[in-house]
Amino acid sequence: MFNLSVLLEDGARSAPEKECLVFGDLRLNYALTDMIANQVADLLVSRGIRPGDRVALASPNVPYFPFVYFGALKAGAVVVPLNVLLTPREIAYHLEDSGAKALFAFTGTPELPLGPRAYEAFQQTDGCDIYVDLPAVPGATESTIDGAETFWKALEGRSGEFESVQTSAEDTAVIIYTSGTTGKPKGAELSHNNLMMNAIGSAKLVNAHPEGRDVSLVVLPLFHIFGQTVMLNACLYRHGTMVLMPRFDGDEALRLMEKEGVTGFAGVPTMYWGLLNAVQSAGAGEYDLEGIAANMVDAVSGGAALPGRLAEDFTKVFGVGIKEGYGLSETSPVASFNNPRVKAKTGSIGRPVWGVEMKLIDPDWNEVVQEEDREPVGEIAVRGHLVMKGYHNRPEVNAEVIRDGWFRTGDIARRDEEGFYFIIDRSKDMIIRGGYNVYPREVEEVLMTHDAVSLAAVVGVPHDTHGEEVKAFVIPKEGSDLTADELVSWSKERLAGYKYPREVEFRTELPMTSTGKILKRELRG
Ligand code: AMP
Repeated sequence: MFNLSVLLEDGARSAPEKECLVFGDLRLNYALTDMIANQVADLLVSRGIRPGDRVALASPNVPYFPFVYFGALKAGAVVVPLNVLLTPREIAYHLEDSGAKALFAFTGTPELPLGPRAYEAFQQTDGCDIYVDLPAVPGATESTIDGAETFWKALEGRSGEFESVQTSAEDTAVIIYTSGTTGKPKGAELSHNNLMMNAIGSAKLVNAHPEGRDVSLVVLPLFHIFGQTVMLNACLYRHGTMVLMPRFDGDEALRLMEKEGVTGFAGVPTMYWGLLNAVQSAGAGEYDLEGIAANMVDAVSGGAALPGRLAEDFTKVFGVGIKEGYGLSETSPVASFNNPRVKAKTGSIGRPVWGVEMKLIDPDWNEVVQEEDREPVGEIAVRGHLVMKGYHNRPEVNAEVIRDGWFRTGDIARRDEEGFYFIIDRSKDMIIRGGYNVYPREVEEVLMTHDAVSLAAVVGVPHDTHGEEVKAFVIPKEGSDLTADELVSWSKERLAGYKYPREVEFRTELPMTSTGKILKRELRG
């Protein structure tokens, strides 16, 4: 019997004075963070929330996220984190699909007014009876949303002590919504055990700072599994300090790294790209880059393929190699890790982490094995403590994606003789041009090696004779006079005839998800 909230409780017991959360001028130690989470738990129980009830949370990376996340877990409830960019209709879908009884939502900022959208969705949803407004002004007892109660008002007079409900390790702790490989968003049910094992595993992979300092810049959204496990839960396990950042901005990230002496960073590849851009456009002496590099001992990338060129450029500036991990919402998330402390290979997602089995399968679930000197290629399947219990209320889909404990990921990879996996691409991103398979990632890597290319994304677009044609969207480096013809020739020299892009479109930016992954769906048009 245990509850994931022990991660926070342990910090409050053994390092109560240690700084847990930093947000702007606000600095909260472990004892205070845990006390507020206890008050949330007390509030939920007093309002009738019972073990297993779903509590939805719509919040960017501000201290409310951990308060409510752990408060709900302490009460034995299941947390349903929501993406802060959802529309009222989408929020209502998530509330209904998960059967949420309560919704905590951040009011938002003028640029991102979340509260009004959340409240509209709440009013449309039967069975969701508790709405708590998380006001932008800390401590505010009056809500700017008509009819809503604020967090601080609801917590008034509540005890800061609460004995956590002891759930079973297999009980669902969190339902994370993901589109998976197809269709409407589905809620991946992750147990206390799934999340605890992944948090401990992730925490152990971090390089230690020589002086024992442990300060993470937390900009990966906490509502996404990557931020939740690799940042929030793993940091708590190590009793580290989290510097919260609600929205990625390269300059702001550098400023915070310098000010707070950040020792660890985790991000998706486009965040690394954003950091490098900020470094390039900064005036001389604007940031103490040497100081930043001296503090930084750990950098992790995941969520999407890390272009080799980006990793090299980052290491040159920040003095630390980027470790690449791989995983999905359905796998809590970390399944494999390219760990230089043991052995790492460029461009690889490494080998499965402790307690995780990985294999390559064909569409009929048959294992693809090494044949003589031909490396096996297939869809990655994983088994172990990380695999979700299943999608919430989706027995048919669960039967398609989980068999004998193995979960099929939808990602195509090859494996070398030493057991290192190399992602080729997502099966759904694969382009079929005139009957040949083209993996966008390979084409993107070639484009990114051109000195005038800053970022590239490749998709398949409909074509009359070939079915699909390879098209590249490219952000050129500032001041370059790169032409589409030049890039087509560059690719043609380096790739087989069916792979190189016939069309190149220049853009100043690319559409991205709130996590920072490039939205290929939108590029396909
Ligand atoms: P999500 O559920 O949003 O975390 O998305 C999971 C998907 O992200 C996986 O199925 C992969 O397609 C992709 N992904 C995660 N990590 C990597 C990586 N290191 N390299 C390539 N793709 C990745």
